[in-house]
Amino acid sequence: MFCVECGREGPTTGGLCPACFARKHPLVDPPPHVDVPRCQACGSLLVGSTWTRAELDQAVPTILRAKVPGRPPFARVRFTHVAREEDANNFALTVKASTSHEGLELVQDFHTRLRLKPSLCDPCAKQRSRYFEGIVQVRAEDRGLTPGELRAVRTFVQARVDRAARESSEFLSRVEATHGGLDFYVSSNALGKVLARELASAFGGTLTTSSKLFGQKQGKEVYRVTSLVRLSAFRPGDVVRRKGALSEVTKVATFLVLRDLVSGEERRFRPRDLRGAVRVDAERFAADLEPADADDAVVATHPETGAQRAVTSRGPLKRGRAVVVWTADAAFLSALPGDPSKG
Ligand SMILES: [Zn+2]
Ligand SMILES: [Zn+2]
Repeated sequence: MFCVECGREGPTTGGLCPACFARKHPLVDPPPHVDVPRCQACGSLLVGSTWTRAELDQAVPTILRAKVPGRPPFARVRFTHVAREEDANNFALTVKASTSHEGLELVQDFHTRLRLKPSLCDPCAKQRSRYFEGIVQVRAEDRGLTPGELRAVRTFVQARVDRAARESSEFLSRVEATHGGLDFYVSSNALGKVLARELASAFGGTLTTSSKLFGQKQGKEVYRVTSLVRLSAFRPGDVVRRKGALSEVTKVATFLVLRDLVSGEERRFRPRDLRGAVRVDAERFAADLEPADADDAVVATHPETGAQRAVTSRGPLKRGRAVVVWTADAAFLSALPGDPSKG
């Protein structure tokens, strides 16, 4: 077949070779510029009707498909491009549009300028307006959070929210230090509930939630869910009295682990099952154990006062150095490290 336009031999459509056909039937009308809103806060690009975190270069073909429609009869036009940065917001694009039509591979080259338009994406706009739905309150039972707990809880929440921000459009609206604890205001009730559950399990606490109607969004009632995470009154190392027995707290997580100071046995408790337990003043330090007058007994000596007390833990008691728990009227072997400021 010969092209009726240029006379070249080869495949034709409507009597035209691919080059002449493409010239007579452009694939697209090249726009002088393509504007793309870009969030000033997070760098997201608005592609079609969706904000995306994609890199600009990777997003360009999708942007072109959305902004540069194929001319009839070309429905499916593909784009490849080379971008040259002119300045931070302007890119010169050299674009190759291509499509298949009646067995012919048609291409059209054009130039355009991609302009980034400073904007604010929906999540960032909401965040700037301090929007929130879920509230997570973190408190401790009968005490304020320790400085270490405050730091750890903040870090935990920030890391979890950062992950949620990458996966969807969640955010932390604000954090308030209050009543010896922390209040976190988050973008959704779902995120608040997940955070509260994970905090309670990581830091050993009980969880209660309540919700309150606060308005309507697109005709639907919107609730604010407040989750209260109450950390245990006890920390690792605390000595507690429960039902007459003394124990030391060896672990605080979903469960608290209490080690009986006399028998040495460990038992797990849910935080709420320790409501009746009370903390007992005690010291913990490395002490020298020596045999006492009685048969198997050993006595511990207080490193500062020199006071001596029989060690009342069960089991074989060895002489030598060991970490003991020292209360007002007794001494016990401990399974935890001693207070480094003593002994
Ligand atoms: Zn031709
Ligand atoms: Zn943004």
